[in-house]
Amino acid sequence: MMKIKRHTTLLDKTGILIIGTGACLFYYYFETTLRGENLNILITIGIILVISLFTQYLLNDINSSKGALQQANETLEHRVRERTEELRNSELKYRTIFENTGAATIIIEKDKKISLANSRFLDMSGCSRSEIIDRKTWVDFIDEKSYRKLFGDEKNPVAEMPGAHGKHVECQFVDKHENRKDILISFAQIPETEASVASLTDITELKDAERRIYFQAFHDALTRLPNRALFLEHLRVAIKRTKRRPDYHFAVIYLDIDRFKLVNDSLGHGVGDDLLVAFAARIREFLRDIDILARLGGDEFVILLEEVCDPDCTNAIIERLQQALRKPFGLHGKEVFAPASFGVVLNTQDYEQPEMIIRDADAAMYHAKESGRGQVKVFDKKLHAKTLHLLQQETDLRNAVSRNQFQNHYQPIVRLDTASVVGFEALIRWNHPETGMISPDAFILTAEENGLIVPITRLTLERSCRDLQDWQNILGKAPEFTVSVNISCRHFLQPSLLDDLKEVLERTGLPPHLLKLEITETALMDEADESIRMAHRLREFGIRLMIDDFGTGYSSLSYLQRLPIDTLKIDRSFISKIQENPESNRNIVEAIVSLAHKLDMHVVAEGIETPEQHAILLDMKCEFGQGFLFSRPMPKSDVDALVRQLGSFCPSKRDQPYCLTTGLPN
Ligand code: C2E
Ligand code: MG
Ligand code: MG
Repeated sequence: MMKIKRHTTLLDKTGILIIGTGACLFYYYFETTLRGENLNILITIGIILVISLFTQYLLNDINSSKGALQQANETLEHRVRERTEELRNSELKYRTIFENTGAATIIIEKDKKISLANSRFLDMSGCSRSEIIDRKTWVDFIDEKSYRKLFGDEKNPVAEMPGAHGKHVECQFVDKHENRKDILISFAQIPETEASVASLTDITELKDAERRIYFQAFHDALTRLPNRALFLEHLRVAIKRTKRRPDYHFAVIYLDIDRFKLVNDSLGHGVGDDLLVAFAARIREFLRDIDILARLGGDEFVILLEEVCDPDCTNAIIERLQQALRKPFGLHGKEVFAPASFGVVLNTQDYEQPEMIIRDADAAMYHAKESGRGQVKVFDKKLHAKTLHLLQQETDLRNAVSRNQFQNHYQPIVRLDTASVVGFEALIRWNHPETGMISPDAFILTAEENGLIVPITRLTLERSCRDLQDWQNILGKAPEFTVSVNISCRHFLQPSLLDDLKEVLERTGLPPHLLKLEITETALMDEADESIRMAHRLREFGIRLMIDDFGTGYSSLSYLQRLPIDTLKIDRSFISKIQENPESNRNIVEAIVSLAHKLDMHVVAEGIETPEQHAILLDMKCEFGQGFLFSRPMPKSDVDALVRQLGSFCPSKRDQPYCLTTGLPN
């Protein structure tokens, strides 16, 4: 720029010198010409002068253009400097962003090669920059499985990439040292180029959490086996496969550990849990890899036997499992046996819904349990009919509750020495509109299972209290009869039981001490601690408790002592065999009577049918009894008549009031 200026000044000066010299020459020759000499020279000089002037003018113009050009050049230079600065800043900015996005970021060219990678990516890959740039493609860092998921089976890294703009893909990243990570790759096309930018986020923790949540949702926390939901899914797949492949067969086994509650109650829940884990492991050990073992809850397990060509195959596996369960489990230094009952469904091709298979396997298991412990029952047509009957019964029972089709029959409880009535046991009957009177043994179990036992018992309780009030009214005040109502285990453990009882007593006005509740020994044993708590609450309220069917369970003396029990009712099975030889039954009854007395409890002997049984019991100092010898259970109207009759005997037999005419001791 300075050079141009110098040249311009030089030209200017030379021009002025030429013009000045020209002008002097022109003046000299002009004077000479005026004197008549050198006209030609004058003209020449004049022309030269004009040319010089014009040249000077042109030079001046060039000079001024040069100046403008120079200025423009300067402005341009400035602008370039500015833009370069801006570009540098922008580059710096984007490089900083690229480096610090928080995610591993790479630029991928059309051929999938990585042309730029930030330090995070280098850290993630374990490679140096030179190992990656223009050498590796992004798919070099993706594991085989993810690759197949993204591109299909074709091994072609430059095949159509899923990295369309804005697309996100999850895959497994494999670094230089073969370490694996779960990553999320987000692709974005770089405008007006064929390259894209991909940012990779490590989502391993997220995926682990997801896997944990999935595991928790579909597995049992204790045994880590699949749960019901996952098992149903496997069954669904198996059913579909049966429809596709006629040669494919599967079987389902429902398993329930026998007397598991006893383990829980006697050895504690910790041992119970350990037993479940050990049980699951042992069963698993005897299954094939393709079979599925799941825990449905509690002590109930279910197995899906895959590819069982014929029933013999299933039988062989069941036999193996039973064999395995004959050996004890060593838990906390103790040997614990855990035999199980098996319910099997073989004809699985008949099913459309997995739930139905489980239902029928469960029904088969239930029947196996009924026919003794450690048994196997295969679901068949007969069982199917029985299940249908149970289902029908359930519907009928619901109707029976809403239409109140139940009746109370009452069986007197007597003092054995005088045969005087001291109370009545309420025994429910179902007056079915089609089949007539149904005994409790035929429906109580179903009612217990479907929970209808609770409303049914409420009806029985209310009626018992009202009927007893009626009899008290017939007789006048003293002496007082009691009424015993049977309470099933399920109802006994309901926290609402006490409120139900209070409500009924309040409504009917019966004093609590005239109401007795009969609970079977096994029911009390099922949830020992819970039962003890409930028993105390009832006793505090003034209601008396009896243990029904005593002798059939396994209550320990220490357990009995912890229960606030008023009366033990000796099970009928002992009384019916009391005369048999050898005398073991007699000894048992005698032991129960003396045990009860030592624990300050009363004793009632159930099912006394003969005078001999009566005499033996009297001999043993058993105070109370009940049985056909004295009276069969009878409807309310018959009891009304009996009570009137008893009342009329009363005045003459002050020491033996309310005596029955039958069953009097000799
Ligand atoms: P349980 O409480 O042990 O009742 C005694 C059962 O023995 C009654 O049968 C009664 O009729 C029968 N029985 C009484 N004396 C004799 C006898 O001398 N010989 C023979 N062979 N049997 C006699 P039932 O009425 O069929 O009741 C059967 C069971 O049903 C009852 O046994 C009780 O466990 C249950 N049950 C009855 N009513 C109810 C109720 O309202 N609620 C609940 N949860 N269970 C009830
Ligand atoms: Mg009873
Ligand atoms: Mg009984």
